[in-house]
Amino acid sequence: MGKGRLLLFPLPFQGHINPMLQLANILHSKGFNITIIHTSFNSPNISNYPHFTFESFSEDTLAGYDTSLLGNVKNVILLLNLVNKVWIDPFHDCVKRLLSNSSVEDPIRCLIPDATLYFTQAVTDLLKLPRIVLRTSSLCSFHVFHSFPLLLQKGYLSIEDSQSEAPVPEVPQLKVKDLSSTFKIERDALHVMLLAIMSGTKAASGLIWNSFEELEQSILPTIQKEFPIPNFTIGPFHKYFTASASSLLEQDQTALSWLDMQAPHSVLYVSFGSLAAIDKTEFFEMAWGLANSKQKFLWVVRPGVIRGSEWLEPFPVGLLEAVSERGHIVKWAPQQEVLAHPATTCFWSHCGWNSTLESICEGVPMICSPSFGDQMTNARYVEAVWKVGLVLENGMEREEITSAIRRVVVEQEGKEMKMRMSCLKEKVNTCLMEGGSSYRSLESLVNFILSF
Ligand code: UDP
Repeated sequence: MGKGRLLLFPLPFQGHINPMLQLANILHSKGFNITIIHTSFNSPNISNYPHFTFESFSEDTLAGYDTSLLGNVKNVILLLNLVNKVWIDPFHDCVKRLLSNSSVEDPIRCLIPDATLYFTQAVTDLLKLPRIVLRTSSLCSFHVFHSFPLLLQKGYLSIEDSQSEAPVPEVPQLKVKDLSSTFKIERDALHVMLLAIMSGTKAASGLIWNSFEELEQSILPTIQKEFPIPNFTIGPFHKYFTASASSLLEQDQTALSWLDMQAPHSVLYVSFGSLAAIDKTEFFEMAWGLANSKQKFLWVVRPGVIRGSEWLEPFPVGLLEAVSERGHIVKWAPQQEVLAHPATTCFWSHCGWNSTLESICEGVPMICSPSFGDQMTNARYVEAVWKVGLVLENGMEREEITSAIRRVVVEQEGKEMKMRMSCLKEKVNTCLMEGGSSYRSLESLVNFILSF
């Protein structure tokens, strides 16, 4: 007899689907049967997971909602609040059906939803099913989100000089100006959402993190106080299983064949993930900054990343030529393979948590252009705590970009960042080995689940 079945429920965005499906693979390798619950919105590529069962519900709950606007983060918050309302009934019916069809030989042990799907707590309470949540961000950024009511109460979010460099002692490493970009959108809707996510997380039986103890040691005791439930830091997940199988967009393999033709440690990789978007002016500044740096670069220009454009049509011909001399542009790359490639020397990133972890695991120093949410905190930790990269302080500005590329790719400062990154990479390897912190945490997670 196996160890029983787990129901996993990802939030249907790329940065959340990847870690949830990686976690599914990890737990499957530990002997559990897996059912992934999903809807038709960004539904996972089922044929890549013949070893899992998939269960979909309610195809029409988002009908009438323009999901093509999701590149706009304001809509992401609104969508999150929406799904947490409209999915309750169909999700409840779906889990109830699964429970009544389950057998003694293959009992359903628990539900593992994304922490942002806080409505699931009411459902599992009703059905008396244990619930362990997966938080796909860093611990440090979750602490910042947890501190939102305090920061609001202390007036940090209404400071007139929103560009102030003053530190915020309540959230170490962050400056006042970082808070406005962290919490910049739909403040009221965001407030409601954060409160619900925090109480939904505290009400869970346990909390799984895609991170590892050695990386976030300084914040771990605070998190354990804020969420006094068993915390399992079992990451980085993609070191067990890559994210390629869960990619929603096709990964352009020419990225790798182009890298094969470049010298070792010579290419800057540029990508802003699946949701962040920039204006045309920012895009031109990026292009000039890259062209003027005289470095080789691989640039992911995701369709829709430039607001108001389909793809590369805003590029004036002269600039496209200047860029093409040294760069290769793709719509979506096999990012983990790109970061692991010997030609890659630096990652200019929006600092989504998956991207940040993937860079750390391959020992690649970073240039950070955070845009919203957890990215600002991740970027500050990259620069100030782990000291493995630097933040572009003035948004997209060509001189600053060119100088940052020089600092990280050419100068001594960059070599030191690379050394510290290599140490972190070593720590990743150790934490996953038998007896290492993530290895032990995964063992306790398995035992914890078996205790239900
Ligand atoms: N990714 C990819 N190809 C790309 C860009 C990104 O496969 O060209 C993957 C990347 O490896 C990561 C995920 O998409 O696993 C992005 O997640 P992240 O948390 O970094 O950012 P988000 O998209 O959630 O903002």
